[in-house]
Amino acid sequence: MSFRVDDRPGNAGCLPALAGHEEGGLAMNKRKRRDDALYRKNRLPAYERAGGLCESCGAPAVEIHHIVFRSHCGTSGLDNLICLCRRCHELAHGPQARQMRERFKEIRKGD
Ligand SMILES: [Zn+2]
Ligand SMILES: [Zn+2]
Repeated sequence: MSFRVDDRPGNAGCLPALAGHEEGGLAMNKRKRRDDALYRKNRLPAYERAGGLCESCGAPAVEIHHIVFRSHCGTSGLDNLICLCRRCHELAHGPQARQMRERFKEIRKGD
């Protein structure tokens, strides 16, 4: 599993015109819809892959997190999903988000 353009630090590899605009026109809506479908399809396999446990600390997992946030053009491909407990998920979206993301990428590389 490898990340393509997304693995450049500080750059989500996304066209600025597409990033962060919820009402960003047809192309964006289409991409989002397709990704929602992918997410629904991959949720369960991602959860089963983790054995129902947080892949960061081993506690029971309650959330599926996008390693590269969808707002940064991350997708719902299995290589961008990770199961987390509530605590780790909060960390993943907190001030340490960047370090956590690098850590999660390392975990995913081991697949
Ligand atoms: Zn955890
Ligand atoms: Zn998340």
